[in-house]
Amino acid sequence: APCGGTRPETSSPRSTTIVFMAARRLLGYGTAAGAAVGAAAWGIVQMGMPEPALPSEPWADASVSAPSRREQLRKLRGNEEFDVLIIGGGATGAGAAVDAATRGLRTALIEGEDFGSGTSSRSTKLVHGGVRYLEKAVFQLSYGQLKLVFEALHERKNLLRNAPHLARPLPIATPCYHGWEVPYYWAGMKAYDLVAGASGLTMSGFRTAAESLALFPTLAAVRETDGASLKGTIVYRDGQFDDA
Ligand SMILES: Cc1cc2nc3c(=O)[nH]c(=O)nc-3n(C[C@H](O)[C@H](O)[C@H](O)COP(=O)(O)OP(=O)(O)OC[C@H]3O[C@@H](n4cnc5c(N)ncnc54)[C@H](O)[C@@H]3O)c2cc1C
Repeated sequence: APCGGTRPETSSPRSTTIVFMAARRLLGYGTAAGAAVGAAAWGIVQMGMPEPALPSEPWADASVSAPSRREQLRKLRGNEEFDVLIIGGGATGAGAAVDAATRGLRTALIEGEDFGSGTSSRSTKLVHGGVRYLEKAVFQLSYGQLKLVFEALHERKNLLRNAPHLARPLPIATPCYHGWEVPYYWAGMKAYDLVAGASGLTMSGFRTAAESLALFPTLAAVRETDGASLKGTIVYRDGQFDDA
């Protein structure tokens, strides 16, 4: 469901539809048996007709429930027409579906396995601006990478604002085991703060080794691989989301 509550009002009944089906099986095997299996796994969800007014916190409205699987199957076998067909119910497809549906387009979302079961189920779940893209932007003098960081930081801000029930700021510590790493990472994270500007979270900062070990007790005081001792950490914040 869309978050944020800024969806435009519509007076006409809305027929936003999300279709689920086992297309991969159909496309992959192309046999009658495959088609039967695929057809049996088809489903459809019809959302809001006419559309109710959004509560101030749409996720808090427990009265909205998805139609049954039987209903989904019935709809799918009908003569429903769609404006947009999206294949793949991972983060990209689901995001595109929400975007299209909230623009009033009749949207079908097709998934061959299970929603969010592909790459999206293995993500670190960071809503990040991309510290490493910023590093690339600097060392490769890449304006494209810099633009990417600006855009990602802007989207991070949007997600943290629109979905506070699913996304939150996450403190991340970069351990420094060599003296040179302290100014290097400190400068890098200050540049990240600077690029974030108004989209920024709490400013990054240096923590001594003792402070770092108190904050992150599982951190190694002495690195096993080379015996280097912890000089401190640079702590900054990015976002993390719950997509379970
Ligand atoms: C280890 C790791 C960590 C990551 N960490 C982060 C992170 O912290 N933050 C971040 O933003 N990104 C992260 N990413 C990247 C992010 O996870 C991916 O960019 C994102 O999940 C891709 O989503 P997707 O929808 O494009 O692909 P997928 O999630 O793979 O979805 C594609 C879907 O399409 C379906 N499909 C394919 N073909 C068909 C067909 N013919 N018919 C029907 N369905 C089909 C599949 O079953 C699948 O469910 C990480 C990636 C990896 C691998």
